Amino acid sequence: MSLIINENWRSLFNGIYSSLYMSTKVLIIISICSELAKMRVNEKQDVKYLGNNVSPYMVGFVGLISAIAFTSVLTIENVVGTFSNVIIAANWTLVAVVVGIIFSELYIKIYYRMLDARKNVINSYERAVRQSILAIVPAVLTMVAVIGTVLIINSLYFSKINTIQNITIHGGNGFYNDMKYIFIKNALWIVGGHGGDLIVHDQSFNRLYVDTFTNMGGAGSTLCLIVAVLLFSKNKYSKKISKISIGPSFFNINETITYGLPILFNPVYVIPLTVTPIILYIIAQCAFALGMIEIVNTDMSWTYPVLLNSYRLTGSFSGVVLQIINIIVGVVIYAPFVRIADNMSKYERRDAYETLKATVFSGKFEKLDLSSGADNMGEISIFLGEELKEILDGRRKNDGELYLEYQPQVNKLGKVIGVEALLRWNYGEFGYIPPNIIILIAEEVGIIYSLGKWVARQAIQQASVWNNELESTVEISINISTKQLSDDSFAIYIKEMLAYYSVQPSAIKIEITESFAIGEDEITKNQLLLLTEYGVKLVIDDFGVGYNPLLYIKKYNIECIKIDGSLIRDIDKNEESKNIVKSVYSLCEATGIIVMSEFVETEKQKAVLDEIGEGYYQGYLFSEPLKADECLRYIKNNI
Ligand code: C2E
Ligand code: MG
Ligand code: MG
Repeated sequence: MSLIINENWRSLFNGIYSSLYMSTKVLIIISICSELAKMRVNEKQDVKYLGNNVSPYMVGFVGLISAIAFTSVLTIENVVGTFSNVIIAANWTLVAVVVGIIFSELYIKIYYRMLDARKNVINSYERAVRQSILAIVPAVLTMVAVIGTVLIINSLYFSKINTIQNITIHGGNGFYNDMKYIFIKNALWIVGGHGGDLIVHDQSFNRLYVDTFTNMGGAGSTLCLIVAVLLFSKNKYSKKISKISIGPSFFNINETITYGLPILFNPVYVIPLTVTPIILYIIAQCAFALGMIEIVNTDMSWTYPVLLNSYRLTGSFSGVVLQIINIIVGVVIYAPFVRIADNMSKYERRDAYETLKATVFSGKFEKLDLSSGADNMGEISIFLGEELKEILDGRRKNDGELYLEYQPQVNKLGKVIGVEALLRWNYGEFGYIPPNIIILIAEEVGIIYSLGKWVARQAIQQASVWNNELESTVEISINISTKQLSDDSFAIYIKEMLAYYSVQPSAIKIEITESFAIGEDEITKNQLLLLTEYGVKLVIDDFGVGYNPLLYIKKYNIECIKIDGSLIRDIDKNEESKNIVKSVYSLCEATGIIVMSEFVETEKQKAVLDEIGEGYYQGYLFSEPLKADECLRYIKNNI
């Protein structure tokens, strides 16, 4: 490079290097502290904290500021603690992280103390003011604590403090000292300490020899871990991060895998991270003692690539062979831990998924903000959302994983008058995910529009297949949530698909799900009007619970109302339910709207409904939702 350009290239690259290095350190502290906050929020699963929980981002920020404040005030004389040193110098990362954690924890403690003690006062303010008070007061108190602590430490232990940044060990040519060096260096990595820089060793100590045969891929022999993950892990994320890490790993840079996997603070990897290099060192020492290798050249940097470094160091291929053997041994040691880590993340996901399911079905979910990923429910939603996205984008083959089932809708005589398309997702790890959860996740991660279109397209395609097969039209209902109606390309997409598959618009019904408040915004209004204009029929789903959309019936040319299952369930026992249903029937009769009852499960329920008036039925009494081919058979038998 110096020959081609000139010596200045170094300063450019050094600039890039140090700015990247600096931002990494900032990110590390922020991420660790905000993760801590998420853990604490998860522990406080109490309704009384809903909407008032501590913000992980604020905690990350407080952690960073505490670390900077602490380390810069700490060393007045030795100039170790200037801003850039704190952030750039590797040997201050550990102190900064620890300080960040301690004071983030303090901040969170003060935050909840204040919330508990002054709940009524705080709740009397509006949200924005409330959040500012809740964020700022504990932050100020935390900063006072930071400065106070530093001042005390400075006055008491100033001279000693300056030495703790370096753990001095005297490595060098002795088996025991080398082992000590290897162990401490790798153990420090687990807590984010850049081992190699934290340890001061004798000049005579041959770090290059130790690193070449024990730390392939950087401290912790992480190249072995990467290979082990690629060979044995089933976790897609781990595999992805390992692939990315191969490049840096060949130059013995382990940050990508250490922070990416992560190994940092991960109890699963404590043992292999510390044990592997020691075992590999013993193997290398044996080879050395037996005269199989010798060191001929130590004039190279630690970033000299793996396989080449062993050749250059030993001047022979036996050095390379030894290194390869050590890599294989390392992979073998790491392999079982990779599997353990896989299983642990699986259990964690399962746990989070169960919590999410329970929360959604308990009806509390509307108050939770999943998309911020602030708790484990948010994380699992994002995880599943990503999986769903892969299928919708076509990045993953959809082998019957995501599909529609069809539930027959019948008249009084049991003849099929239509079917409702219901979304099914059979996601390996969790089995069938209830459609309400799929929709909720899709809404939260912002893929509801593409999911809605996917469902519509499947259903319209199915209608076209059936129409050809049956030589008569089967009406298919498609569910859409109110949120989907703010997609201003939905109606036009339906029109295009109808044309593409040559399906009559009247064969498609749109079931607007949820208790809703439509017609408020222009886009929604437009979409509904466009759909009616095209000749698509509109159905109101789950009628009788939540908002009463009577107004919209007139406005949007509603063709059918589906009475909510909760009213049908006890219609043969509960007079009140029966009276409500009766009034819906007479409303529909007066306005010329079709009534359909959902969740009809027993002959008794049907008899009560038959008596009330003319209507259609859907429910287990007739059929459960069926796969397309089974449904066709049902239709053929009941047409
Ligand atoms: P929904 O539109 O009211 O659908 C009826 C639900 O009741 C379906 O549940 C169906 O399997 C179930 N069901 C049918 N007959 C009976 C019965 O006799 N007894 C009982 N207990 N249940 C019965 P599913 O498939 O779990 O869907 C739940 C909800 O998820 C749907 O309620 C709908 O709101 C939503 N959903 C389903 N598919 C989609 C979709 O493609 N898009 C949107 N936006 N929402 C969907
Ligand atoms: Mg429905
Ligand atoms: Mg319904």
